[in-house]
Amino acid sequence: MREIGHFIAGRPTPGTSGQFGDVFNPALGEVTARVALASAAEVDQAVAVANRAFPAWAAMPALRRARVMFRLKDLLERNRARISAAITAEHGKILSDADGEVQRGLEVVEFACGMPHLLKGEYTEQVGTGIDAYSVRQPLGVVAGITPFNFPLMVPLWMVPVALAAGNCFILKPSEKDPSASLILAELLAEAGLPEGVFQVVQGARTAVEALLAHPGIAAISFVGSTAIAETIWRAGTAAGKRVQALGGAKNHLVVMPDADLDDAADALMGSAYGAAGERCMAVSVAVAVGSAGDALIDRLEPRVRALKIGPGTDPEAEMGPLVTAEHRAKVMGYVDHGVAEGAKLLVDGRGLRLQGYERGFFLGGCLFDGVGTDMRIYRDEIFGPVLGVVRAPDLATATEMVNRHAYGNGVAIFTGDGGTAREFASQAQIGMVGVNVPIPVPMAFHSFGGWKSSLFGDHHVYGPEGVRFYTRYKAITQRWPAGARRGAEFVMPTPGR
Ligand code: NAD
Repeated sequence: MREIGHFIAGRPTPGTSGQFGDVFNPALGEVTARVALASAAEVDQAVAVANRAFPAWAAMPALRRARVMFRLKDLLERNRARISAAITAEHGKILSDADGEVQRGLEVVEFACGMPHLLKGEYTEQVGTGIDAYSVRQPLGVVAGITPFNFPLMVPLWMVPVALAAGNCFILKPSEKDPSASLILAELLAEAGLPEGVFQVVQGARTAVEALLAHPGIAAISFVGSTAIAETIWRAGTAAGKRVQALGGAKNHLVVMPDADLDDAADALMGSAYGAAGERCMAVSVAVAVGSAGDALIDRLEPRVRALKIGPGTDPEAEMGPLVTAEHRAKVMGYVDHGVAEGAKLLVDGRGLRLQGYERGFFLGGCLFDGVGTDMRIYRDEIFGPVLGVVRAPDLATATEMVNRHAYGNGVAIFTGDGGTAREFASQAQIGMVGVNVPIPVPMAFHSFGGWKSSLFGDHHVYGPEGVRFYTRYKAITQRWPAGARRGAEFVMPTPGR
């Protein structure tokens, strides 16, 4: 059985804990490798290596650190087919979608290439006579990232390029379900010229995470995953004195107004609800049909959900692959059972799907509910599968209130032909990322990504300008030259500007 290990001190390192997790090919339903699960001692080793590497890396001119990112960008581009294949083999998503994930991660590397500019502070000459003031942003030290299964390359790249280019050392604890992409990233960073120990991968699960949270040698934690774990990580990390940003789950609504282009809205719903089998934190899982939009929308959606092309991610014809594990599929199917028991109308039932040649794969057909109520579990909980629920609302005010009362606040979209309606909705939505006639409003790398409410714990969104703020500390310096201009001892509050 192939063994997937760590990447410590500049080289692939086998696990020593004796603990392993199974890695599946979800389309085949077969174990293809086993991944090492790190012990606290292995985490400790990586943190020690990173702390030794930090002073030289932090002292390197930002321009030279940025050049490593330029080379990484080139290497990622040249290796994108290999990376996409590794993602599809362990996650199950279709290859073209895996390639899209590589692209969105690459864009954060491109953003980090501009780090010398992004680290610039402000300067004020002559705040007092002979006194100037300026500010700088300095790296935090050794930081860690704990990432989910659903974007095994992109989510690490939301963090790593910004943290490294700002002068931090980084320890990545990827998802144990699809660990291979993280090792390709480590290999390419080394090839790009990153010094030993600046980026390391520690594979593992809860034990590794708890060791990172408690370790005094870790200054900050970035987490992306489900809400319950995000909140736990944020509480434990901040209690241990660390800076923490913890992004959680989601339940994204797409509001369809009667004046929207309904064909366009149906296209948007199909791609965003069923793409990646619904395993995206920005997937739309609730369609809020306002007024007369409801029946027209269902007429368009129902035949298309039935006709979804489902197959292994390597099939170029497939629109949707399997779910990540058998347990996850059972959980999603359980929600479909719940929805039926709660009285929602199951228009398309994907539970019976069988694919010839892939009978053991973790496939589930697309499911579509109408008549979903806001008190139902299928409305309140994140399902994270190919299940779309349609809720009817009489008007925009009701739809907006529904969105705002939901516990999650990651993304939302409105489809409308009216600019005033869109503007009002975008202003009123209690949600971190809003799309207008755009179904998955994932901000570009030079903006920042993050939700509100139970979708993010902490103060900073990830990547973009917010990422730079998260991975740096602000310092204000006041200096007086010439140094010898004596003023004598002063015992009152300094007021140089007086
Ligand atoms: P998860 O919470 O199960 O796992 C995320 C990470 O936490 C993994 O590295 C895992 O090993 C670790 N982990 C799991 N249980 C732990 C525990 N008890 N203690 C310590 N660490 C633990 O999430 P997942 O199933 O891998 O990913 C799917 C979830 O991630 C969904 O809820 C999805 O919405 C969310 N997600 C959110 C965003 C966002 O930007 N908000 C992006 C992607 C995914």
